Amino acid sequence: MRIQMSLEKQSYDILLDHKAILQLPYEIKNIYKGQKVFIVTDENVYKFYANTLKSLLAEFNVSFVVVAPGEQAKSLAIYESVIDTLMEQDMKRSDLLIAFGGGVIGDLVGFVASTMYRGVPYIQIPTTLLAQVDSSVGGKTAINSHKGKNMIGTFYQPKLVIIDPDFLRTLPNFEYKNGMAEVIKSAYIGDVVLQEKLFKGQIKTLEMIERAILVKRNVVLKDEFDLNERMFLNFGHTFGHALEKQSNYEIAHGFAVAEGMLMAVHIGEKLGITPKHIQKDLRMILEKYDLGLLKSDPVTLIDDVFYDKKNTHGELKMIFITDIGKPVIQPVSKEALYECYHSQAS
Ligand code: ADP
Ligand code: ZN
Repeated sequence: MRIQMSLEKQSYDILLDHKAILQLPYEIKNIYKGQKVFIVTDENVYKFYANTLKSLLAEFNVSFVVVAPGEQAKSLAIYESVIDTLMEQDMKRSDLLIAFGGGVIGDLVGFVASTMYRGVPYIQIPTTLLAQVDSSVGGKTAINSHKGKNMIGTFYQPKLVIIDPDFLRTLPNFEYKNGMAEVIKSAYIGDVVLQEKLFKGQIKTLEMIERAILVKRNVVLKDEFDLNERMFLNFGHTFGHALEKQSNYEIAHGFAVAEGMLMAVHIGEKLGITPKHIQKDLRMILEKYDLGLLKSDPVTLIDDVFYDKKNTHGELKMIFITDIGKPVIQPVSKEALYECYHSQAS
């Protein structure tokens, strides 16, 4: 299926299906007249899929740039080395770039695409569940600075996104769970049917990805540049980010967001925003995927969040759920948050 991303300045398709990757040669010819194609990937993904890509793209002149796997790839040093390598391989401004890998590759290569020669055309081919349902959709690119994650980046849309769930067959289980947290988040902020199907454990991977993407797309179409509604995607992320950071990024994003969602529904319940039954159902769904099981300390997380937001005049904007599929943004004070954990008995 094709999901259209019709943004103000451009529009492009998200091609989603089993074996969608087989469409790549035709899709390239639709958007690009040249012969040269530059594919940036990481060592793991290269090992699994380089041969597939090479034979699929035999009619093109393909060069690979392969970086070491892991978050370290989102650094200024690797960013520079990727650009150097592409230039050494004589990449021109009109040549096509392909980001082939998980969220790390997507963010890094998106940033390369948006800045190299002031912007080159590129295709996103996400290969992790997390990247398929989240980072490959919406046009945010980023690398990390010493001051924090995703501190350097742009909004830059690809020419095409190809999502092939068959890539997930080689994905380690841990990475699958990591992505499931964002799927579950999408259900809670925007898709009652998805939530029901996850609850019953009756959903095919393809439909699950489609539904999660549609939630994200609908939010991004309303607010491409993250000024209003796009904040809904941050459900579970206020405390999720704090937990990731507190663990020195030992806890992966999805696992942290799962904890963050549980905190957000607990706090929402205490503040009278979130109905009581939500917490139980969310916990059950998360447990199905071994998520939401960490023993984190809410009080230190509250402290950390407010320490990081020194200049928010004592209030923090948080995303709550008034019902499944119905998020709201509400300011909360540090004192109100403490209170939610001190009156546990009630
Ligand atoms: P994320 O998508 O979670 O942001 P990464 O880009 O770091 O994160 O990908 C997570 C890990 O999974 C990396 O080690 C990467 O090499 C590996 N990986 C990505 N896609 C696949 C795949 N389809 N099969 C196996 N391993 C993969
Ligand atoms: Zn996230």
